[in-house]
Amino acid sequence: MEGLRDESGVVAIAGSLQAAQLTVLGLRALQHRGARGAGIAASDGHLLRSVQGLGRVTDVFAGRDLAVLRAVAAVGQVWGRGERADEAELEAQTSANHPFMARFKDGQVAVAMNGRFANAASLRRELKALGALFSSTSDGELLLHLMARSAQTTTVNRLVDALWKVDGAFNVVLMTEDRLIAVRDPRGFRPLWAAQIGGAVGVATEDTALRLVGASDLRELEPGEMLIVDDTGPTIVRPLKRRPHAFCALEVSSTAAREASAFGHAVYRQRVEFGRKLAMESPVDADLVLGLPGSSVPAALGFARAASLPFEAGLHRAPWASPIVGAPSGEAELVWRPVPDVVEGKRVVLVLSVLGDGHDARRLVQLLRNTGALEVHLRVATPAVVASCPYGTASPTKEELVASQGTDAAALAEALGADSAACLTRDALQAILGESGHCMGCLGGAWPVPVESPEDQLGLFDAE
Ligand code: SF4
Repeated sequence: MEGLRDESGVVAIAGSLQAAQLTVLGLRALQHRGARGAGIAASDGHLLRSVQGLGRVTDVFAGRDLAVLRAVAAVGQVWGRGERADEAELEAQTSANHPFMARFKDGQVAVAMNGRFANAASLRRELKALGALFSSTSDGELLLHLMARSAQTTTVNRLVDALWKVDGAFNVVLMTEDRLIAVRDPRGFRPLWAAQIGGAVGVATEDTALRLVGASDLRELEPGEMLIVDDTGPTIVRPLKRRPHAFCALEVSSTAAREASAFGHAVYRQRVEFGRKLAMESPVDADLVLGLPGSSVPAALGFARAASLPFEAGLHRAPWASPIVGAPSGEAELVWRPVPDVVEGKRVVLVLSVLGDGHDARRLVQLLRNTGALEVHLRVATPAVVASCPYGTASPTKEELVASQGTDAAALAEALGADSAACLTRDALQAILGESGHCMGCLGGAWPVPVESPEDQLGLFDAE
């Protein structure tokens, strides 16, 4: 909804003869985090091989016999299209391989990651001045360049050395022929989970991916923790400098699957609470409450309960709808179908999980009016997004964000064509999330990591 998605998700399995198949299965549970492409790198203990492509996981791996990889370990990634991407960057993303693979003098390495280094542009510039050649805008490739220049002698130490030079939001999963290393950034922007899968070890951005492959003993890695899996078994170390936590608030409100947990809490419960609080902050005289199937439903339920209004399944996802996550705005009519019997002649509250460029919100309001709704009131269970995310969540540009010029309720309602509009306040969000340290940069809060200027953020293929 509204084009706000994390740009990727990672899964890795080590110690199973089904590693490749299980990794692909896990990626399917992360499809909502990015549907532009998917890939895995698999190790048979001696050699890394990859299967990658553009499209959804099922498209990329359709008809592939993963058994031929004879994998005992695999790492996979789904990735999306950053809403900020111009055509040059999109071309670069398209040509990027994920997981990114390279050969060091002592062997092969594959790296998958989600998030974004906040200082990537300046690091890339420094490396290019030293003669480094890049083939993509992938931060994974940047990380491998940093590792290649490290004076350390082991893979783990080279990775740690490289990670000391970067800052920002990252879950990195790196695999060699005989070792898997997963690390969550010290600020913990996004969750990274580890678990047992029978005798194997699994790692994923969301616990949902690990549950799908039958994992047990799930544990959210602490910010800054590194999990190393080799022939001696799993080991957890903490090699990075401690930093104040900066858990992504949007991960809780909209990015993660509704059945996921993040930052120590079930996101479903928190979303219900966002909706409940929203109803108390911005009540409305109406007949019923609707939510979009997906991340909005728990908030809509919470809103309905607090407002003592019926929650109705009056919007459904059309079976013929494009399955592409983050499909271009304008496809709302194709994707979402109002139920006339529910909506006609009613004053409707439509609860959304997040408000970005407003295109989908505007079209949904119109769709409900066209279906006979007497009034349509928009309620958004997250503070309005007023800036693009520099830490890896695909966002519209600041100019495109409907609330970037102000969050005045009347102005928002007019811009979206609704009878009224209101967003959860940042104070309410903070109160529900607790005091454990969350990033709310794009919601008008402080930026936890200094953001490089727009000029510094130019991609590899921009003119130089
Ligand atoms: S800027 Fe927004 S989307 Fe990005 S990490 Fe912070 S809260 Fe999450």
